[in-house]
Amino acid sequence: MKIGFIGLGHMGAPMARNLLKAGHALVVFDVVQRNVDALKAAGAAAAGSAAQAADQAELVITMLPSSPHVKTVYLGDEGVLAGVARGVTLVDSSTIDPHTAREVAARAEQHGNPMADAPVSGGTGGAEAGTLTFMVGGDAAVFRQIEPILRHMGRNIVHCGAGGTGQVAKICNNLLLGITMIGVSEAMNLGTALGIDAKVLAGIINTSSGRCWSSDTYNPYPGVMENVPAARGYSGGFGADLMLKDLGLAVDAAKQSKQPVLLGAAAQQLYQMFSAQGAGGLDFSAIINLYKPKS
Ligand code: NAD
Repeated sequence: MKIGFIGLGHMGAPMARNLLKAGHALVVFDVVQRNVDALKAAGAAAAGSAAQAADQAELVITMLPSSPHVKTVYLGDEGVLAGVARGVTLVDSSTIDPHTAREVAARAEQHGNPMADAPVSGGTGGAEAGTLTFMVGGDAAVFRQIEPILRHMGRNIVHCGAGGTGQVAKICNNLLLGITMIGVSEAMNLGTALGIDAKVLAGIINTSSGRCWSSDTYNPYPGVMENVPAARGYSGGFGADLMLKDLGLAVDAAKQSKQPVLLGAAAQQLYQMFSAQGAGGLDFSAIINLYKPKS
């Protein structure tokens, strides 16, 4: 299949490579020329705009930073809708707010193009290995059509419901993840300050009712686990600024639907403070450093 792929960053580039490996023909576009050149070297054709990448495509996939970029890339003068043929399905895998996802999908529908939101989890490792989870919002017929393509890039492809629900699933999960990471940080820091060994405390939590992914798979306390960012100075992993972005999406979506997110808003502010201190590039589990006394 001929696929237009737009947004070739940390996630988009390895996802596009996996589509090439699976034998699809790609026409790619990114505003950063070296990202386009890298995919060209891997066998893709290069386009000069989003409209051009979509022009001959039978399917369009986008992987962009956030909501404003998605609006520009789909609705702008040189955007996807300016180039794509009627009837071609559009898939946005960026993490954006559900409201924008639904707005852009409605504009695409008016233009004659079915659209699905399909944000992912699994990070850059999952993108490279082709083991991402896709959370898909859109019609059942669109899901059936795109599922075999997404399978070249992911392992779990889940239909969450109507348009926008993929984004809802993604931001609710990350809202909870941000909160639990701060909770585990607080508990680990309190326990060690009160004199218990960090590994002993983590072992108790992980076999007791406080257990969660942030404690048993991604513990933020250095020395508790190997092969996690806490074991390598919080490098790699999922950046604190990306967590801040996702918490912001959840808090904004909550405001629009008049839902309270008390802990989510507190988590957002803690990550904002952490980012303002210049630590936004560290893995999000480094938030535990907010609890450490300055030496
Ligand atoms: P990134 O910033 O590395 O890549 C985004 C790419 O989009 C860049 O190459 C950028 O040049 C390009 N771009 C920006 N504006 C454009 C435009 N107008 N036209 C064409 N290209 C444009 O971001 P990423 O890490 O690849 O993340 C992409 C999305 O996936 C984000 O929404 C992020 O929240 C989400 N996500 C990221 C991770 C992760 O671990 N990095 C994990 C899950 C989900």
